[in-house]
Amino acid sequence: MRNLFLLIIIGSMIFLTACNTMKRHVDIIVHNAVIYTVDSIFSIDEAMAINDGRFVETGDNEKILSEYDADMVIDGKGLPVYPGFIDAHCHYYSYGLGLLKKADLSGTGSFDEVLDIMQEHREKQPGEWLEGRGWDQNDWEVKEFPTKERLDQLFPDIPVVLTRVDGHAALVNSEALKRAGITSETLIRGGKIIIKNGKLTGLLIDNAINFIRDIIPEIDRKKQVSALLQAEKNCFSVGLTGIVDACSKKDIIELIDSLQQEGILNLRINCMMDSTKENFETFFESGIYQTERLKVNAVKLFADGALGSSGACLLEPYNDDPGNYGIMIYEPDYYRNICEKAYEKGFQVNTHAIGDSAIRMILEIYGEILKGKNDRRWRIEHAQVVAPEDFEKFGKYSVIPSVQATHATSDMYWAGERLGKKRIKNAYAYKKLLDQNGWLPNGTDFPVEQINPILTFYASVARKDLDGFPEGGFQIENALNREETLRSMTIWAAKGSFDENERGSIEPGKYADFVILDQDMMTVPEEEIPRTRVLNTFLGGEEIYNLLNEE
Ligand SMILES: [Zn+2]
Repeated sequence: MRNLFLLIIIGSMIFLTACNTMKRHVDIIVHNAVIYTVDSIFSIDEAMAINDGRFVETGDNEKILSEYDADMVIDGKGLPVYPGFIDAHCHYYSYGLGLLKKADLSGTGSFDEVLDIMQEHREKQPGEWLEGRGWDQNDWEVKEFPTKERLDQLFPDIPVVLTRVDGHAALVNSEALKRAGITSETLIRGGKIIIKNGKLTGLLIDNAINFIRDIIPEIDRKKQVSALLQAEKNCFSVGLTGIVDACSKKDIIELIDSLQQEGILNLRINCMMDSTKENFETFFESGIYQTERLKVNAVKLFADGALGSSGACLLEPYNDDPGNYGIMIYEPDYYRNICEKAYEKGFQVNTHAIGDSAIRMILEIYGEILKGKNDRRWRIEHAQVVAPEDFEKFGKYSVIPSVQATHATSDMYWAGERLGKKRIKNAYAYKKLLDQNGWLPNGTDFPVEQINPILTFYASVARKDLDGFPEGGFQIENALNREETLRSMTIWAAKGSFDENERGSIEPGKYADFVILDQDMMTVPEEEIPRTRVLNTFLGGEEIYNLLNEE
């Protein structure tokens, strides 16, 4: 009996040791969490194991804790874990540049306020040019476009350029016009130089702004690096682990690549190349460029301007500006030629198209080349105003609408005046667009909107501003539900760049990019969503942001 008892003890010791050695060692275990895997059935787990920067397994607490041990064991304390957010359309470098040298004019309530900010900025930032970005005359008491007279009074000698929030209009002073050689006779295609009573107003729309952009001196490499790094830091703090830069110049793509190779920049970045000869010669010739953190597989084109600056190209004139149809940037052949080349070389084409006329033209050109259903994932960026009969073409040619939910809630105050009662019904129609292919990527277009994906989630689900306006939500029939919204900011955003096998969900083998939030946006009352905060951001299994370290 005693021997048997001893045997049992020894036996169980051997068994326990065996169990311990049988546990697989990994880098990180997260347990006691609510893990939204965002897999195909949207399953929720309690625990996960991570090794070598990738997810190994998810499961319940007992399973993961009994099968793995780890150097770092994180008690999730019942908090929600989501895949790292991906912004499917933003202007990453330009956002960084703005942080570095431009005065922030977003949220200003009048042109007076803009001028005050610029005077302050001038004292802090004595550069060769004075730059600001983010004004929106629709937010002002006087909702008219500003003109240059008062800028000239305040800044007679230094060139000033104040870019509108959408980047599709700019107010410049006389010194800037002079340096750019712009006169009332200057001819422009795909843009407008606004003239009143035969005189320049200083207001430039779309392509006209390029005269100015071309002569603003480039900043040095050191400053470019600091713009990229500052932008990265802000992305991590809001849970972004990947972004798609919606218009990248070759030198910036190369700079991003070299910083990533040196381990200085870590964010996962996809670049839509700017449609320049230089980019085409490089990337069309050598093919899609891809490393662990960088991918250049798309061309960015611009079909028209933006709605807020009345440059979006419409089939019928603007409701509040009879005779104005907006601006088509180039002739159809321009787009057709680039699309054919991109098709042949296996690149995605992502075209900015906001007005129903621009969207129709691009859908038709895409359709001629793509012919029917396909997996090229050519995208229409923004897809804001769609003619009712054109929705089905997104499905017919598998064209992907790439949307920004906060545009709906930023524009809802005035978009109805631009479009009229009938057309507005088919604007910002995200649900209807989603139905065409069953998935769509979501983003912010930052710095046009704030970078925070939590606000995208809220706008997408509630279609209200932060004051809860309008009651019931703006055209609420086009809201996405919470599951669709989370997908659009993670797995569908990844899919929008052919990255869904590498990231966008918490599944074995994928990069361990994830966030821990302080409350669950999937379940909290709608009005509490915007208060959600990111506690930790992990990229490839490394903690790259921790709220506690910031406070
Ligand atoms: Zn954009």
